[in-house]
Amino acid sequence: MENPRCFANRFVDYKGALLVGQGVEKAVPTVKDLIDKIIRNVPLGSTECDGGLYDGPAGVAYMLYHVSESALFSEHKDSYLKIAKQIIDVSVVYVDGEKDKNMRAAFLLGGAGIYAVAAMVYKALGLADFVKPLTKFRNLWEVCSPINFLECGSDELFVGRAGYLCGALVLKQKLGIEILSMDQIQEICRAIIESGKQYARRKRKPFPLMYSYYGTEYLGAAHGLSSVLQMLLCYQEVLSDGERDLVWQSVDFLMNQEQNCNWPAELGAVIERENELVHWCHGAPGVAYLFAKAYLINKKPQYLDTCIRSGELVWRKGLLKKGPGICHGVAGSAYVFLLLYRLTGNSKYIYRAQRQVETYGTQSICPRSCGAADTAGFAEFLFTEEFKAGSCSVSSVYSLFEGLSGTVCFLVDFLQPDQSEFPLFSVFV
Ligand SMILES: [Zn+2]
Repeated sequence: MENPRCFANRFVDYKGALLVGQGVEKAVPTVKDLIDKIIRNVPLGSTECDGGLYDGPAGVAYMLYHVSESALFSEHKDSYLKIAKQIIDVSVVYVDGEKDKNMRAAFLLGGAGIYAVAAMVYKALGLADFVKPLTKFRNLWEVCSPINFLECGSDELFVGRAGYLCGALVLKQKLGIEILSMDQIQEICRAIIESGKQYARRKRKPFPLMYSYYGTEYLGAAHGLSSVLQMLLCYQEVLSDGERDLVWQSVDFLMNQEQNCNWPAELGAVIERENELVHWCHGAPGVAYLFAKAYLINKKPQYLDTCIRSGELVWRKGLLKKGPGICHGVAGSAYVFLLLYRLTGNSKYIYRAQRQVETYGTQSICPRSCGAADTAGFAEFLFTEEFKAGSCSVSSVYSLFEGLSGTVCFLVDFLQPDQSEFPLFSVFV
């Protein structure tokens, strides 16, 4: 029976040689064309700024910033940054007017992410004004410190505290300055830990830390336990010994929830093999970053092995039918190969990423075709009506997490794999 979520991978696996013909000379102009098309299709002055970094215009601004950082695109650096500024300025005005202060504190879906990208773009342009959005970001600390600041769940990545910590981490990496004081970071980490302890106790969970979002006990990167723990590991130096123990126990607890190289979307669910989610948002391609971080900290082989098994699953089931994005699309699963390349240095993962890129250029990725391979260039293909119809919504076609801006980030990283990192979610800092 045909898998409803992914195309069968009929590629031969790595035999010691990379594919030829995917060189930088050929790829850079293609990526540039893709960017031009995105810019043409995203109304620059639009006041429709909903969706933040996830699927709003701010995510497109981040993509342009990311490309402008790459030496391969240095020729276009200034023009990309100027367009990024135009986009993000409108988003900043929009979010300044947001009445709900909790939405202002949201990283992937709201204000914190917009202010963070504004600070990065301004700094890259050499504008001293970068301090303004940075100060707005910093001030959100107070909003998300109270344990139950959000009724839906205060700790996850999109709107909760893990997201805020993630934003602070990205900012520190890109701006090269401290964003929050040690006390502030400590207070947020303590709130996350206390909230997880209380939830686990109240719901009589047999493990130390657990969370829910709108009543669901997610495990994956999007709203779940894995990205919350990942952020706590990123700041583990501010934790007490006892808190650190709780975090590591929880990491091992999550490791034990693996079902044949994957994790169910929610705690206790049983994965049905023919219908499983292999997405960054839900499943191994997102959970892998937690174990990568764990491995980078303490070098225990079982964490690396867990990442490698995730990669094996993605090789079998990562040619997703849901579109080009990084959340639940082809680029998101392919990022796991770049992660594994950085962790192991093994060229096999570059080859596998190459194969994933190759599928952009074949009809076989098209939901309406029956698998006949064709050779349309991937950029042309991505703009066909069939492909648009196959992704979640037309409005998010150009976005960072569900659309082509995420694809661009992936392709740029694919061309410089030694510096690659999942957008806004690095484990190497
Ligand atoms: Zn998703």
